[in-house]
Amino acid sequence: MSIITSASGSSCWRGLDYYKSQKIKEIKKINDNEYTSLVLGSKNYNVYLNIQHPRKSTCNCPFADGRRIICKHIVATYFSVVPNSAEIFEEEQERLYQEYEAYNEREYNNAIKCINKMSKKELVEELIHIFDYAPEWVYDDFIRRNDIEG
Ligand SMILES: [Zn+2]
Repeated sequence: MSIITSASGSSCWRGLDYYKSQKIKEIKKINDNEYTSLVLGSKNYNVYLNIQHPRKSTCNCPFADGRRIICKHIVATYFSVVPNSAEIFEEEQERLYQEYEAYNEREYNNAIKCINKMSKKELVEELIHIFDYAPEWVYDDFIRRNDIEG
């Protein structure tokens, strides 16, 4: 486990914002894996970063204090001390997003292909099935758009 995979997505993105707005001060290197810092915000927090053992990292903010949680302050400190880590994180997120988009497009195209092969009877059954399971607004929207009187 790394700092990034141990932290929530929102802690990573908010940590990146802190890093980019240069809120990490008084960075002290203990050794290659351990650092301390002061992170500026509405309040200032003391971070201890342990890259080798992420869960041993600490921060005295209300979110992380005493909870073994990797907060945005710890992530921001990580981005500040490990060269290129922020760029690598952003590239990885962009790659995952592209993969997700490509997956959705394939699924959508497969669904369209499938719809085009269905008989009218199959389509009617499928539509009724969708009305049974979809949220009510899907049905209401169908009624409204097709001008059906209730
Ligand atoms: Zn924190």
